[in-house]
Amino acid sequence: MQAPNVPETKRIVLIAHDNKKQDLVEWVQLHKSELSRHHLYATGTTGRIVHEKTDLPVHRFLSGPLGGDQQIGAKIVEGEIDVVIFFWDPLTAQPHDPDVKALLRIAVLYNIPIANNRISADYLISSDLLSSSYKRTLIDYNTGLPIY
Ligand code: PGA
Repeated sequence: MQAPNVPETKRIVLIAHDNKKQDLVEWVQLHKSELSRHHLYATGTTGRIVHEKTDLPVHRFLSGPLGGDQQIGAKIVEGEIDVVIFFWDPLTAQPHDPDVKALLRIAVLYNIPIANNRISADYLISSDLLSSSYKRTLIDYNTGLPIY
């Protein structure tokens, strides 16, 4: 097994809980030109709002509470997502909290860069690595050793 090669043009997921949607839209507006060079994906409502406010093309999964987070987790497992920007709400309980937790776990397990607040998203979007290819190391859980 070989470590997956992350392409120059990234497949970036955008997700925001309701109280964080405005924050995410502002962030996307600020970084619209960089983001327009990549492929954007989102949970249902986040994707609709981001598209309406920025005109960027966004592939939409189902809404988070209806299974969108799980769909995105499955795409990570299948190697089809490279970056996650997920502004989750630390002050409000979510009906789909287990799905949120599962997505966070899968992103860490598969060594996917994930920004959960504005400053992390700023650091991530300004990284040179965002527009270059990258060998994403994985752990072989049979041996406990990294796969390069
Ligand atoms: P939404 O889902 O974009 O459909 O609101 C986000 C979430 O709650 O995970």
